[in-house]
Amino acid sequence: MSTTGTREQQAGTVPLRGTPASAGAAVGPVVRVPEPLGEPPAGPAVPAERREDEAARIAPAAAAVGARLMALGGRPGLAPDVANVLFATSMMAEDPALLDAATAQVREHGTPPARAVYEAAAGFVAALQAAGGYMAERAGDVVDVRDRVVAELLGVPAPGVPLLEGPSVLVARDLAPADTATLEPGTALALVTEEGGPTSHTAILARSLGVPAVVGCRGAAGLAEGELVRVDGAAGTVEPVDAGTAVGADRAASGPTTVGGPVTTTDGHRVAIVANIAEAGDAERAAGVGAEGVGLLRTELTFLSAATEPAPAAQRAGYAATMAPLRGRPVTARTLDAGADKPVPFLHMAPEPNPALGVRGQRVFDQGTADHDGVLDRQLAALVGGAADAGVRLKVMAPMIATAGEAARFVARARAAGADEVGVMIEVPAAVLGARELLAEVDFVSVGTNDLTQYLFAADRQSGALAGLNDPWQPALLRLLDQLCREAALSATPVGVCGEAAADPDLAVVLVGLGVTSLSASPAALPAVAARIAALDLEACRRAAGAALAAPDAAAARAAARGVG
Ligand code: PEP
Ligand code: MG
Repeated sequence: MSTTGTREQQAGTVPLRGTPASAGAAVGPVVRVPEPLGEPPAGPAVPAERREDEAARIAPAAAAVGARLMALGGRPGLAPDVANVLFATSMMAEDPALLDAATAQVREHGTPPARAVYEAAAGFVAALQAAGGYMAERAGDVVDVRDRVVAELLGVPAPGVPLLEGPSVLVARDLAPADTATLEPGTALALVTEEGGPTSHTAILARSLGVPAVVGCRGAAGLAEGELVRVDGAAGTVEPVDAGTAVGADRAASGPTTVGGPVTTTDGHRVAIVANIAEAGDAERAAGVGAEGVGLLRTELTFLSAATEPAPAAQRAGYAATMAPLRGRPVTARTLDAGADKPVPFLHMAPEPNPALGVRGQRVFDQGTADHDGVLDRQLAALVGGAADAGVRLKVMAPMIATAGEAARFVARARAAGADEVGVMIEVPAAVLGARELLAEVDFVSVGTNDLTQYLFAADRQSGALAGLNDPWQPALLRLLDQLCREAALSATPVGVCGEAAADPDLAVVLVGLGVTSLSASPAALPAVAARIAALDLEACRRAAGAALAAPDAAAARAAARGVG
């Protein structure tokens, strides 16, 4: 109680800060999501004569949970990535290995069924966590399924989001993908979690649903049930507001709603304003806000729960459907960025001690097996075909390129597949230091500031504790971008930015001042970015860039850039 009182006194002055995960703002009363179920009791042991009956309860309970998740995934109008997560989770509920292990435990040791499921799942969770990277992220999915089956066996309500009686801000320690996917955007006004990073399933799903979200928000545990808060998913803040503040999506925070045609500075300097998308719903939103095209199509998100490589024709049709809303516009597709934070289960990548530093992104194909090679070539062909079907101008780029040699090999393969415009992402500091040679190989580059920052600062982008280092306003990052832009200017190579940095209007000004030629961000962020660029002349952007470059730290860079123009 006292924590709440203290924060209420601070209402409007000291917001809680977390990681921005899904843009938009809303005001609403807090509804707390209950903590997951505790450990079910280990005893008393089931008497020998009842073991068969008790063991036999497990499979139907798991089937009931699986069917419920499947039904949720089959609701009409659900975005494909949301449905896929639910289908994958439903299959997990009926995983024979899990059920067999639990059933045997009841039969052989008389363990109560709920406890047997709990213990069997623990083995899977430990194995996934030991594998690290995206496998470790899937451990949360297994825990979610485990708790649902345990609740079913115990006859208690399923853990997770309670039924919402009105528009609410959901506050949880963490939210399972299945919980996030069931939210109704009109009722769940915003999400706040104490755990999680911006690339967790929860964040991906929140963005897909268009629900503002802040993750990794320390202190959210202190928010009380019913307390009125304002959540700003773009700024990553959660702030108690006065009782009486209107509940609902915060329109004041939404600003302009369209990009408003080709964007130039007031003195006519062109900057392409393009969108980050993963599926057709995003593409429709991109077209809806007037994006000039797509600067980053994240192709691996469609493969999130595919157990086997989708057939070439299905890939082509999928890409065509995703690109169709942007007919006539350029679409830059990134080839599979598998590994670390991006799950592509069908590649069956070997576990590594440091997945973010391992064989991930283009390295899977550049250093991988011939088997993997075929996956890339088939994807490139499907992208070329899908773009032709959709009537878009395709550009392709590879993720996680460190050297000119890697870039050259990718370009050759993409051209062999029929791609005309081929580039690479700049996500590894070595690629900037070797930019002269690298730029000679490509038609364009696009900076992934999310990864470039994590590798520059040796700071895991999913770590809430290191969010300060992963701040794209860090002058060291800006100086690296300055070096890249200077080098690119010598060969007139276009430099885009498609990491989260491009979504911040103040930072977008700095990027344009540094020489960045296109800015790509989630559709919702684009109108505000376009409006800011269109309000300044190029010289003002350059002054903002100069001020930020000269600053001693991220906060000073932000303040200095805002003070210019
Ligand atoms: C990035 O790293 O900045 C990027 C755009 O790619 P992703 O976030 O998908 O890794
Ligand atoms: Mg990246």
